[in-house]
Order: sequence, then structure tokens, then C-alpha cells
Amino acid sequence: MNTPKLILKRGRSKSILRRHPWLFSGGIAKVLGAPDLGSLVAVCDAQDEFLAWAHYSPHSQIRARLFSWQESRVPNGEEFWRERLAQAVALRSGELADAETTACRLVNAESDGVPGLVVDLYGSTLVLQFLTAGSDVRRDLFVELLWDIVNGYLDVERIFERSDVSVRRREGLRERSGLLRGKALEGPITILENGLTFEVDVGGGQKTGFYLDQRDNRQILRGIVQRYVRFQAPPRLLNVFSYTGGFAVYGLSAGAASVVNVDTSEDALAAVRRNLQLNNLDTSLSEDINGSAFKVLRELRQAGARYDVIVLDPPKFAVTQRDVKHASRGYKDINLQALHLLEPGGHLLTFSCSGAISDDLFQKIVFGAALDSGRDIRIVGRMMQSSDHPVALTFPEGAYLKGLICRASKA
Ligand code: SAH
Repeated sequence: MNTPKLILKRGRSKSILRRHPWLFSGGIAKVLGAPDLGSLVAVCDAQDEFLAWAHYSPHSQIRARLFSWQESRVPNGEEFWRERLAQAVALRSGELADAETTACRLVNAESDGVPGLVVDLYGSTLVLQFLTAGSDVRRDLFVELLWDIVNGYLDVERIFERSDVSVRRREGLRERSGLLRGKALEGPITILENGLTFEVDVGGGQKTGFYLDQRDNRQILRGIVQRYVRFQAPPRLLNVFSYTGGFAVYGLSAGAASVVNVDTSEDALAAVRRNLQLNNLDTSLSEDINGSAFKVLRELRQAGARYDVIVLDPPKFAVTQRDVKHASRGYKDINLQALHLLEPGGHLLTFSCSGAISDDLFQKIVFGAALDSGRDIRIVGRMMQSSDHPVALTFPEGAYLKGLICRASKA
């Protein structure tokens, strides 16, 4: 069999030798053979020396996704992918054995050596996203293998697809979602995360239903609230961009005095209430404000509100490099408004999930907000995406979620 080939331009092999998984169209001199959408291709340097195996994305600027640098083993069969997927799942064996946590990410795309494939587990339901041509054309194979592999750990009830994401258009793929295997979905699924209960709307919720990437940071919030309760007083919590109340449930269960949740989604706020109830928490301690954070934070300031702990977890403001300037203004604005609401000595947990905003830039933005607020602010901690969303060292782009724990001075 003749595998199609991509021949690189001279001097363009460096990033590939360093095992970066993306090859951009500008680096390619010639395409030999006639690769289709998602075809296996061999990437070769200008002298026709083999460099890596990849999947072809004819419509995307990222023309090929590289995933193996071993020429002797042609990765075109079931066995190769079985090994890859089993490895990714085995790395989560700690989570899979943890009775207090029944949801986590099992496969994190490029960072687990499977470009474009995301697999999240919610109880006994697997939710898959196929984000690239290469992963999309192998959909049936991946479903088959994952059913097999994950059944080695627990009884899988169903596999559901949530490929209803706009990035697929860049790959020439349409958005798609629905049942792939097993029993039909009947309403939301109940999961445990660090011993707390949440309902997850796998069929219609944001992302694959829940922001699993914030798990470890919700645990950090829990620790902060517990310290207030033990050594000061139960803190008042402001949870901006609350979604279904992940941080609210952790905060109240750790003993916070109250929580205010802000979100534009009414459905999300309704779920906050149900999640508090599922954990037997007092819903009278929780207030929901349905509105845009940009406006609501100003209104809270005018009303003279103050909070001990504020969480700011906005959606991705910058999708591409072109959005960075506009996004920076947005991040600065909400951080400035939040700092006006922070009690002396209070904590601000502030996040950005925009890959295009670097750690360094994010810190500068928060610094700018602190300067304008006139408050004396220090960083007491840094946060990133949860450990089940690893970042391959060869793929720094995988580190999209960043957060700072900031503290205001006492006076
Ligand atoms: N912290 C949450 C995840 C937040 S996701 C968790 O731990 O689960 C971001 C949320 O921001 C979404 O629920 C979205 O509905 C909401 N949102 C988007 N734009 C907003 C805006 N301008 N003001 C308030 N909420 C907004």
C-alpha cells in the first residue's frame, strides 16, 4: 500500500523533530498521492526522509495532525489506536477507582496522542467530541475501542456525541450530536465530584455538559473557604459566570455564609438551585442574578455590596489571536469591577480559558486592573486546568486554562 506523503519545504522540519503535533499548510512543499479528508499520511522532510505519521485535514490551516514518530510501525490499524486509548484511560485509573469522583476527562486529544478526540466520562456515560477530520473519519473505530476499554473499568451504559462545536467547520465538518451506542439518554445524569453531587445535562449543556477542567480549582476554593470558616468567619462568596454552580456548591458545603451567582443563562441558574438541593445545602443562602457580568458587577458596586471571596470564570473571550486586544479589555474590565467589590484581605480567584491569552499577558491584565482599582493586590497562588486535562510538553498550546489567586491587603 502506498501511503500518501506530505513533503515539507526546506528548513521546516524543526518543530516536527521537536514532536509538535501540528503541521501548518505553509510548511508543505508537495502533497504526493491523493489523501482524503482524515487520511493517514507520512510527513517527510525536503530530502524525502520520514519524520512522522499524521492525519490529513485538507480544509484547515493546520493541514496535518501528527501523532507518531516511529516509521516502522504504520499506525493504520485497530491495534495502534487500542494501545493509545488504553494508555490514556490507564493514566486516569486513579480517578476511575475514586468512589468520590465519577466524572473526568479520559482522553485529552493531542496531549494524549490522539489528535482531535475528547472523551469525558460522566458516571457510566461517555461523551465524545471529534474535533478534526482525522478523528471524525475514525469515529466508529474509536467508539468500538472505547466501549471495550472503558468496560474493563466499569459498566458503560452509553456513548454520546457532542461534536456540536464551531471549530469543526474549519475542518470541513458539520456540527453533530446524538447517541452513538447504548441506551438512550433520559434527562440529566447525576455525578459525584470530590464527594459532591451534580446533575449534568450531557445532551444540551455547555461543552460536554460540565466544566470538568475546573475540578481541581473548585477544590482549591473549598480549601480557602474552610480556612475562613476556621480562622476568621464564614465568607460571603460572589460566583461570577457561575454556570450550574460548581463553585457555589463547593463554597456553601465548605461553610460559606452566602453565595451570589451571576450568569446570563437562566437554565444554568436553575441548575444551580437543583445542585444545591442535591447536596442538602440551604438554598436560602444562595441568590441568583440573571444578567451580564459587565453590567451586574457595576450594579453590585453601586448597591455597596462587598464579598470576601470572588470567583471570576468567564467564557473564552479570545478565540483567535485576532481577538486578543478586545478580549484583554473585557478581562480587565471584569477584574477591575470585581476588585472594587472585594473586602480588605479578601480573595479573588480569576481565570482565563483563552488559549490565545498567555499566562504572562493575563497577569499583566490583572495588574492593570489592580492599578486602576487603587487596591494593593498580591498573587498568592496560580491555577491551571485539572490533572485529567494534561498538557503534553511537546504541545504548550494545550495549556489553555490559567488562573490567579489574588489577595487584597488588609487595610
Ligand atoms: N464556573 C463554571 C463554569 C463557567 S463557564 C463552573 O465551574 O462550572 C462560563 C459561564 O459564563 C457560562 O455559564 C455562560 O452562560 C456564562 N456567561 C457568558 N457570558 C456571560 C456574561 N456576559 N455575563 C455572565 N455570564 C456569562
